[in-house]
Amino acid sequence: MQIIEWGQPLQLREYETPRPSGDQILLSVEACGVCHSDLHIHQGFFDLGGGKTFPVSSRGVVPPFTLGHEPVGKVISVGSKDQEHLIGKSFLIYPWINCEVCQSCKVGMSQVCDAPKIIGTRVDGGYSDHVVVPHKKFLIDYTGIDPYLACTLSCSGLTVYSALKKLNLESLTEADRLVIIGAGGLGLAAINIAKFMTKAKLIVLDLDDAKLEIARDIGADFTVSSSIDEPQNKIMEFVSDDNGVAACLDFVGMNQTMALGLSVLRKGGTHVHVGLHGGAHELSLPPLSFKMLKIIGSYVGTLEECKELVELVKGGLDIKVPIRTLPLEKANQAIEDLRNGVVAGRTVLTP
Ligand SMILES: [Zn+2]
Ligand SMILES: [Zn+2]
Repeated sequence: MQIIEWGQPLQLREYETPRPSGDQILLSVEACGVCHSDLHIHQGFFDLGGGKTFPVSSRGVVPPFTLGHEPVGKVISVGSKDQEHLIGKSFLIYPWINCEVCQSCKVGMSQVCDAPKIIGTRVDGGYSDHVVVPHKKFLIDYTGIDPYLACTLSCSGLTVYSALKKLNLESLTEADRLVIIGAGGLGLAAINIAKFMTKAKLIVLDLDDAKLEIARDIGADFTVSSSIDEPQNKIMEFVSDDNGVAACLDFVGMNQTMALGLSVLRKGGTHVHVGLHGGAHELSLPPLSFKMLKIIGSYVGTLEECKELVELVKGGLDIKVPIRTLPLEKANQAIEDLRNGVVAGRTVLTP
């Protein structure tokens, strides 16, 4: 299911099955998650605010192009004899393929590599019945995990896990509060992953009451509708002292959510900006110093973090995000539903 023209419906195209060479591995796709960033890539740009955009074509992506950066699949052929033992085995594919030699890669920020070959955002991805992976090191054994959950770990789960790891979670107690902004696929996954990593209580925000109900069902301690006037006051009602919350994880990423997050942080608090909704934000500067606030960006995660997360899930981390499956041919419906905000949890396509 390919982008033929930016913003236009994906089209089902048929090509000859690729033949892997060298280190390459060919997998038949078993499932592929649909991610909110697929919407932006499909549209052809990210919104930078103030009428400015970041066109996807500036990354060298030219249609026809196959979306899908959350695939799991079974190895069906390999480029070299020494990999033949992999044939028939199923793997989660780490899609954030990096160059390993640029400055970012050398300092352990491979997810912001200068010359990436990301599956589903730079090279053809998993909205397909086959996908090529450049090397076996990007394959992660997910034995024991449901494939429909496993695929969501490589972006949705990983993004949440990496964002949470940037906070000093071990030092937090039950008296501390974390705010999760947005109860979509990421925000819901964050509830279970955060609960596994910290004792702090979770306050979850969303516009949609149905999503907040799911949030409560899967473990949110408190929920706040962001449609009410002054939601920051409601958040502060759940804070045990008058100081504010230890950290906010913003899985929406727009002007209003950053303003909200910064307004409830306690001194020394951290706002983690993750969501790619887009826009621009004007900031009062003195409070950054007076309150020693931290604003950090977090983008997906490293291969090591992805492996850690898979191990945590194998070891009992129960991610209860609702998952619905759709046949691959319904990819356009999956994208439209996500755009209209009617998806509760995560959608997974199956070829
Ligand atoms: Zn994604
Ligand atoms: Zn690199």
